[in-house]
Amino acid sequence: MDLLEYQGKQLFKKHGVPVPEGRPAKTVEEAVAAAEALGYPVVIKAQVLIGGRGKAGGIKLAKARGEAEAHAKAILGMDIRGFTVHELYVEQASEIDEEYYAAILLDRTAKKPLAMLSRMGGMDVEEIAAKDPTAIVRLHVDPLIGFQGFHGRRLAYEAGIAADVVKPVVALLSRLYETFVEEDALLVEVNPLLVTKSREVVALDAKVTIDGNSLHRHPETAAMRNPAAEDPQEQMARERGLTYVKLDGNIGILGNGAGLVMSTLDVVAQAGGSPANFLDAGGGSKAEAIVDAVEVILSNPKVTAVLFNIFGGITRCDEVARGLVTAFGQIDVKVPFVVRLDGTNDEEGRKILADASLPNVHVEKTMLGAARKVVELAG
Ligand code: GDP
Ligand code: MN
Repeated sequence: MDLLEYQGKQLFKKHGVPVPEGRPAKTVEEAVAAAEALGYPVVIKAQVLIGGRGKAGGIKLAKARGEAEAHAKAILGMDIRGFTVHELYVEQASEIDEEYYAAILLDRTAKKPLAMLSRMGGMDVEEIAAKDPTAIVRLHVDPLIGFQGFHGRRLAYEAGIAADVVKPVVALLSRLYETFVEEDALLVEVNPLLVTKSREVVALDAKVTIDGNSLHRHPETAAMRNPAAEDPQEQMARERGLTYVKLDGNIGILGNGAGLVMSTLDVVAQAGGSPANFLDAGGGSKAEAIVDAVEVILSNPKVTAVLFNIFGGITRCDEVARGLVTAFGQIDVKVPFVVRLDGTNDEEGRKILADASLPNVHVEKTMLGAARKVVELAG
């Protein structure tokens, strides 16, 4: 579960990671009241679950009441890369001297937390890493030993952190690691990690992802979920109990079984297509479940074709086919669908689909054939 910046900063504060003073606001009036209480200058920041707010005009400095009001008005409701701004964070403005980058994330391959530090913060990490991979220093932390002073000092020296702020940077990293472990985070990222004109080190931004499986241990964090700020498709899918992950492409994908769906994504990519989502409909053949899933897939306006990849194991293909026919009766089939049906009773299943002669529905026997067909139809 991703947290908004100010929620991440609440966790930072709890664990002693220094952050500027700030207050969240949902209306222009609340934002102005927050600015008045904090004292000018303040920064008005869009709270959306996506980065690059600065570049998109979602972060503005206000030196007086009128400016705070105008910026709050302009930013609320703004669209930032597909996310509507419903909330603001009003923060005491900081004077920037240097912008660093710090992060701790779970490295699944190494099965260890990975700490990262760079002197080149403030812009996209991907950009920094692409230009100069050595600009970001990485160090794995043995979870049984935890984050020690030597980890922090090694990161700081290798990253070339200015000598006068090594101590506070190391202290901040250690607090950040505590946040990561105690809050069951998968990622805590600070970009920029700010060195102010008075050489104080503070977290100016916060990107925190909490392991969703740990939320039963953190009721306060669980209550921070932001349905309004989440991706609309992912929100809709969660409400319907579907396992859905949005991707960048235009081909909607539905399959039964996580492994099958993952290989479907690979095969579609191999056929030259770009999947719009991961969606595992699970076992069973219920028409309602299929309708539910298709509605989620089609609510993504980028989708121009859909691939159903169904393997009949315990669930027989003829049952699935009957479910599909019922489902297609209830769906407004605006984009072409390709259905690949294989496994137990697949011939009967394909015959049921063929006999139903559904408009805009193409039946294929093999996974690769279906992938090629859907890529062709998606355009
Ligand atoms: P992001 O663009 O979504 O990553 O949002 P950030 O919170 O990282 O802000 C982007 C940029 O806005 C930072 O790198 C800073 O350069 C600038 N910024 C944010 N807060 C302040 C502030 O308090 N004072 C000043 N001068 N600049 C700020
Ligand atoms: Mn940032």
